[in-house]
Amino acid sequence: MTLTLEKPSPLHARGLIHRWRDRLPVTDATPIISLGEGDTPLVELRGPPEARERGIKVYAKYDGANPTGSFKDRGMTMAVSKALEGGATAIACASTGNTSAAAAAYASRAGVECIIVLPAGYVAAGKIAQTILMGAKIVQIEGNFDDALRLVREMCDSSPVALVNSVNPYRIEGQKTIAFEICDELGSAPEYHALPVGNAGNITAHWQGYTELFNDGTTSSRPKILGFQAAGAAPIVLGHAVEKPETIATAIRIGNPASWCYALIARDESNGVIESVTDNEILTAYQFLAREGLFCEPASAASFAGARRMIREGKIPDGSRLVCTLTGHGLKDPGTAGKLANLPDAVPATLEAVIKAAGI
Ligand SMILES: *Cc1c(COP(=O)(O)O)cnc(C)c1O
Repeated sequence: MTLTLEKPSPLHARGLIHRWRDRLPVTDATPIISLGEGDTPLVELRGPPEARERGIKVYAKYDGANPTGSFKDRGMTMAVSKALEGGATAIACASTGNTSAAAAAYASRAGVECIIVLPAGYVAAGKIAQTILMGAKIVQIEGNFDDALRLVREMCDSSPVALVNSVNPYRIEGQKTIAFEICDELGSAPEYHALPVGNAGNITAHWQGYTELFNDGTTSSRPKILGFQAAGAAPIVLGHAVEKPETIATAIRIGNPASWCYALIARDESNGVIESVTDNEILTAYQFLAREGLFCEPASAASFAGARRMIREGKIPDGSRLVCTLTGHGLKDPGTAGKLANLPDAVPATLEAVIKAAGI
């Protein structure tokens, strides 16, 4: 390979709008705001043994490898590019954390203001720090995510600020590209796709992406969609809104998902399921994935937790391919990681002591 360094390519010559331009609602008039998002690793897991034994291939789509550490970048590159095209000078969103980090980053790239409304006390530390350092204005409310979304929607209705929550259709457009990447890499659609469900924008986007490829004949099938909510925040599973959602998986701590009806469409059209997983199942999956070399945040592990349970229950046929979206990076939530990781005491700086401590 030869490197020619005379003409550096602009940053927007990478990123998912560049790659999937023909399948996205952009024109030459759209200023592309990109951080080189998308194209994240699709990693085939070594385990779990119950899958291996039956020829079930489990893949992780590691979307924590996006620039701000979550899949939210996929939607935000589109939402902010379109907001800028429409003349917006400010964007706003409610967030459980990752949306705010993505919004702050893309707003900074675009040179527009960013206003974030957060539920106080329920956003993982890494996400808040990121958002503040990237220059967003944070408003913390004494309420939950659902309250934050309601308020920010009302605020945007009565001002020229562009709303960039996943109720913004451009967010879904960007996020659907995950299905394109997976089908492109596997050569066809997988039989199953598992993911966590919070506000339900991402499950909507996954299904839209798979459906677009199927409808234009690029693929000949679509996966069954397996959505997983945390047991303490499982409105779709219960069939009613949850007043006080509670879970360690703060990114999916949502009691009244904005895209609820689209989640049902994804479930029903795909013959899939939406089920709940307990915080214990989530933490077990979180640690299992870490031992596969994949450090994701707790909410992301809900996908694998649920998928693994379905494999155990014999609900996934032998020989299937099952993709789990790992939605966010493990470093986002150092608090949860730290509680499970025990650091041993320091030993003297001698070879003898190091050998002894290393156990070799
Ligand atoms: C936003 C988010 C989710 C939930 O996605 P929805 O589109 O709200 O269903 C899951 N995991 C992580 C890490 C997130 O940031």
